[in-house]
Amino acid sequence: MKYFIGNWKMFGVPKSISIINKINFFVKKDKNRNKYRVVITPPYTLIETFAKYFKNKVVSIGAQNCFHKDLFSSNTGAISPYMLKQIGSKFIIIGHSDNRSEGDSDQMLKNKLRFALMNNMKVIFCIGENKKQKKNKQTFSVLKKQLLGVLEKKFNKNNIIIAYEPIWSIGTGMIPGPNDLIKNTSFIKKMLKIIFNSKKTPPVLYGGSVDSGNIEQFSKINIIDGFLIGGASKSSKKFIDIIKNYYR
Ligand code: PEP
Repeated sequence: MKYFIGNWKMFGVPKSISIINKINFFVKKDKNRNKYRVVITPPYTLIETFAKYFKNKVVSIGAQNCFHKDLFSSNTGAISPYMLKQIGSKFIIIGHSDNRSEGDSDQMLKNKLRFALMNNMKVIFCIGENKKQKKNKQTFSVLKKQLLGVLEKKFNKNNIIIAYEPIWSIGTGMIPGPNDLIKNTSFIKKMLKIIFNSKKTPPVLYGGSVDSGNIEQFSKINIIDGFLIGGASKSSKKFIDIIKNYYR
C-alpha cells in the first residue's frame, strides 16, 4: 500500500472542500485505487466539516500538528490530540520541520506522538536533515537522533508512518538523487527494525518538492512507501497528476 498525503499548511477556507472533492472523485474511479491511500491535512479550522463530509469516502482527513498535552489544558491557542480525534481527524502530522524550527523538542514530539496514538490516530512522523547537515555528511546521525529521540518500542508501529523530508528540499524544487534517497530510506528502515525489534517496519514516505513532473523518478524506487506533498496538494489537478504519473 502506497500513501499520497497532502499537507495544506496555512491554506484553505470552507469552499476549498471542492479541491478534495475532485481528488476523491478521481480516486474512487481510478483502476489503481486499491494500491494506495489518500489523506489530506487541511488547517485546524476545516477539519471538523471536512472530516464529516469525507467520513465514508475514499479520501481521509488528518491534522498537521497538535499540542504536546492531551485532553484540555490552560495553554492559549493549543489543540490537543483528544480534541482532534473528537472532530474526526484520522491522521496527524507530527514533527514537521516548520514546527521543529518553532521549538518542538524531541520530548515534546514524543508526547505528541504518544497522545496521538492513545487517541487512535495514525501518526505521520517527519524527520530530515538540513542543508548544512547534508553538506557535512551528518544525514545518518541526524536521522538516527530524530528517530531514537522520539520513537519507543512500546508505541504501536502499525499506526506510525515515517515521512523522510530533507529540509533543503521542502518548497525549494530541489530533490535528492535516487542513490541518496535509496541510501537514506534504507537507513531509516534499518533503524526502525532495531527500534521496534521487528522485520516489518512502518511505511517510510518521501516529502520535499514532489510534483507531477518528478514523481516518475520516485516511482522507480520501490522502497519508498509514498509521499508527503505540500505545495502540489493545494491543486486537485496537480495532486491527481502526481498519482496518475506514479502509476503510468
Ligand atoms: C511539506 O511541507 O511537507 C512539503 C513536502 O512541501 P513541498 O511539497 O511543497 O516541498
